[in-house]
Amino acid sequence: MLKIKVQDLNKLFDAISEKEPLYMPLEKAGEANYGLYKTGEKTALDVLKTVKSAKDLFFPQSETIVKFKTEGKNITVEDIREEVKPFVLFGVKACDFKAFEVLDKVFLADPVDTYYQAKRNACTVVTFACRRPEESCFCKVFGIDAANPVGDVTIWKDDENLYWRENTEKGSKLTESVRYLFAEGGEKDVQNQQEETRKIIEKLPFSSLDLSYFENTEMMDIFNRPEWQKLSEACLACGTCTFVCPTCQCFDIREFKASNDQIIRYRCWDSCMYSDFTQMSHGNNRTTQMQRYRQRFMHKLVYYPENNGGLFSCVGCGRCVNKCPQKLNIVKVVKTLGGKKDD
Ligand code: SF4
Ligand code: SF4
Repeated sequence: MLKIKVQDLNKLFDAISEKEPLYMPLEKAGEANYGLYKTGEKTALDVLKTVKSAKDLFFPQSETIVKFKTEGKNITVEDIREEVKPFVLFGVKACDFKAFEVLDKVFLADPVDTYYQAKRNACTVVTFACRRPEESCFCKVFGIDAANPVGDVTIWKDDENLYWRENTEKGSKLTESVRYLFAEGGEKDVQNQQEETRKIIEKLPFSSLDLSYFENTEMMDIFNRPEWQKLSEACLACGTCTFVCPTCQCFDIREFKASNDQIIRYRCWDSCMYSDFTQMSHGNNRTTQMQRYRQRFMHKLVYYPENNGGLFSCVGCGRCVNKCPQKLNIVKVVKTLGGKKDD
C-alpha cells in the first residue's frame, strides 16, 4: 500500500497526464462529469456520483463509426478507426466498475464491437472506494463491495491522504511511473475506513432490497403482473434514467450529409423509453409507455440475468433514483413486484 498527501494530489494528476491522457471527474457548470484533465482544471474527485457514468469513455454518447465519400454514383468507404492510445480513467466507483462487466458481456461478445474493445483495452482503470455512500445507493444488493473495488489500481481517500493499491500488470506500470510521489503505508487507515463504510452501507435504506422474486419467478409471470400499469403511469418518456444509467447500452445508428461529397455515419445513445425506439417497417412492437417502461426493467432484472448467468444489469448506483423527474426508479419496481415491502 502507498500513500500521498491530499495537498499533493495535483502533482499526481499532472504526473499521470504528462504521460497519458487522464480522464477523471471534473466540475463544469456546477456538475461533476468525467473529462480530460489538464493542469489547473477543477477536479471533482470527492463527488460521490458523477451525473453521467464512466461508460462514456468506452461507449460515448455520440461516436462517428464510418465516413463515405461520394463521387457521382461511386461511394468509397473510409474506415476512420485509429489505434486508441493508452489512457487512464481515474476515480471510478465500485458500481460503475461493475457496470463495465455488464457492458463487456454485450460489446465484447461475438461479434465484438471493435470501437468499444479498442478503448477498453487501451484503458487503465483506477477505482475509488466510497467513503460515505448516500441514501440512494444500493450496490450491496448486487454483491458489490463499495469499500473495496478492484480495477487496475484501487484508491481510498480520507482528509489527509490518498491511498493507492495496484492490482494488475497495467496498474503496476502506472504505479511505477508515479512511484516517486508516494510513501509506503496506510493499510490500517484503509482498513478502518472500509469498516466504517461498510457500517454505513448496512444502514442505507435500500441495502436490504430483496431480488429473490426476480430470480425465482417465471419470466411470463413477472411480465404479466398488473402492477406494471400503475408503476408506469407517471413516466414522461424523457429517457433521463437510461442516459444516466451506467449499464444501459442501447444505441441508434444514423447518417448525415457533412458536405456535398461526404456522408458521416454515427451512433448515439438511444432509449427504450422513447416511442420511436426500434421502430420497424411494420410499425412498433411496443406501442404504449407501459410496455416500454416494463421493457426497461424486465431487461435489467429478468432478460439480461437470464442470458448472463444471473448477472443483473443494474449495479445499484442510484442515479435513476436521484434523477427521474417523476420519482420513478428501479427500487420502486423491485419493492412493488417482489422486494421487501416494509421499507
Ligand atoms: S427518468 Fe423517469 S420519467 Fe423519465 S423516462 Fe425514466 S422513468 Fe420515465
Ligand atoms: S437502473 Fe438505476 S440504479 Fe440501476 S444501474 Fe441504472 S441508473 Fe443505476
